[in-house]
Amino acid sequence: LDTTERADAYLTSLARPIRLQNYIENNYSDHSEPSHWIDSFNPRTGELLAQVPRSALSDVDHAVDAASRAFPTWSRTSRQERSEVLLRIAGILSEKKELFAVWESIDQGKTISRARVEVDRAISNFRYFATYILHEEGAVRYVDGPVSTMTYEHRSPVGVFALISPWNMPLYLLTWKIAPCIAFGCTGVAKPSEVTSMTAFCELFLFVQQYSDRRLIRKQVLGEVFRQAKLPPGVMNIIFGDGPGTGSALVKSPRVRGVSFTGGTATGIRIRQDTVADIGKHLSLELGGKNPTLIFDDVDLAEAVPLAAQAAFENSGQICLCGSRIYVHRAIYENFLSKLADYVQKNYRCGETIGPVVSREHYTKISSYLKLAKEEGAEFLTGEVPSVVAQQGFWITPTVLSNVRTDSRIMREEIFGPVVTVSPFDTEEEAIELANDNPNGLASILMTKDLSRMRRVGERIDAGLVWVNCWLVRELGTAFGGMKASGIGREGGSQSRDVFTNLRTLHVR
Ligand code: NAD
Repeated sequence: LDTTERADAYLTSLARPIRLQNYIENNYSDHSEPSHWIDSFNPRTGELLAQVPRSALSDVDHAVDAASRAFPTWSRTSRQERSEVLLRIAGILSEKKELFAVWESIDQGKTISRARVEVDRAISNFRYFATYILHEEGAVRYVDGPVSTMTYEHRSPVGVFALISPWNMPLYLLTWKIAPCIAFGCTGVAKPSEVTSMTAFCELFLFVQQYSDRRLIRKQVLGEVFRQAKLPPGVMNIIFGDGPGTGSALVKSPRVRGVSFTGGTATGIRIRQDTVADIGKHLSLELGGKNPTLIFDDVDLAEAVPLAAQAAFENSGQICLCGSRIYVHRAIYENFLSKLADYVQKNYRCGETIGPVVSREHYTKISSYLKLAKEEGAEFLTGEVPSVVAQQGFWITPTVLSNVRTDSRIMREEIFGPVVTVSPFDTEEEAIELANDNPNGLASILMTKDLSRMRRVGERIDAGLVWVNCWLVRELGTAFGGMKASGIGREGGSQSRDVFTNLRTLHVR
């Protein structure tokens, strides 16, 4: 089943959609309200693909119980042992790489090449933290005085974590939380997005080739990887469900001592409100973006155009880091605009190099923004207002808009689809002002050949990540996260360690 054709044929052969089960304490269990399912659709065809359990409070409790029971032992397991488990997980994921990529592509709609990149990154998440914990360094200070001490910092795992992820990069973002959680000695309950729960599930794709017994196919891909890697029972549990019900119950559980969340800003605010009274609960919120791409007049357009297009349309614009507001120096504006439109038309074709958007709801949301753009008099250089009802899959043509007002909702709100606006600027100061004129502050792209401008402008953009003449470069040791409405805290390397550990200072006489 590790080719799209075979997977498609398999899906068509099923009498009913795949039904997912929770994975708790290394066992598969039905949720406690068997009549409550969430339908999950194949974005390419619009057909029903799977049914995701809407897990109830009792299921959440069951999973949190398991993680709480596992914590005392796992938190005292040696770094070496934890590292070995993580490396085994990475190894099994590597062996099944293509299989994961195929199902990630089917579930989310992303192209298979994009899915392969993300599966590779998911594997790197485990490898990175497996080795990170073996090479941590700390400083000792010698304090002289009436009482002389040796003073040092010590960290210990926080406890049970809620790990909640969105639908745009399902496996990559979930493992970005799971890997550091178990590496730093915490245990967890992971809840993938209800829109794309398939990759975390369906061991069927691993085992159906070996067994004909259909009962065996009701397992989780990711869960089974953990089991094969001998991750002890209860250390990582996966439950399925919606946000307001299952996710919220998980976040609010008093036994959950930390929340690592990636998703929309409105949900992040809700989670912050829901946890505010529990002062000791660790909170990491990676939220939405409306990222500016600034292009100065010294660039080489043959490089700037493909880079700006990729940053806008990769994964159909459904990456929190996509550059969805392009600002170009007026001297090259018209030239850039026509080259971009031409490039996008030639290189971003639905079904070939670009996939559908994830769901019917998301299709409707993006369509409504495009309708508004039309009403407000925006110019469509590519793309059009899609039909009101999605026919045969959730396809939206990559759309380049110009002549959009700065205060338009299209310019201010995250659309999270294949839509980009292009506007001119006259001075460096104006470019910075336009870039920062947004509630979000996640990422930005700066294109120029002028080294001093890279610093002058780069250091003033309100964004947690500034890419200069590049985009989406990730190094797992560097801090990742946003300013302003784009989140609280950072993840990656020592920043992830801060999320998952408590710090104490010891003064030893
Ligand atoms: P979402 O906020 O709707 O959902 C994200 C997750 O939160 C889902 O698993 C959902 O079930 C859960 N959830 C919803 N309400 C909840 C609640 N009250 N309590 C607990 N959990 C709840 O986001 P989405 O639509 O799945 O994802 C798209 C958003 O994610 C975009 O805004 C995008 O920018 C953002 N995102 C951010 C990053 C980042 O690193 N900053 C990365 C990827 C995506």
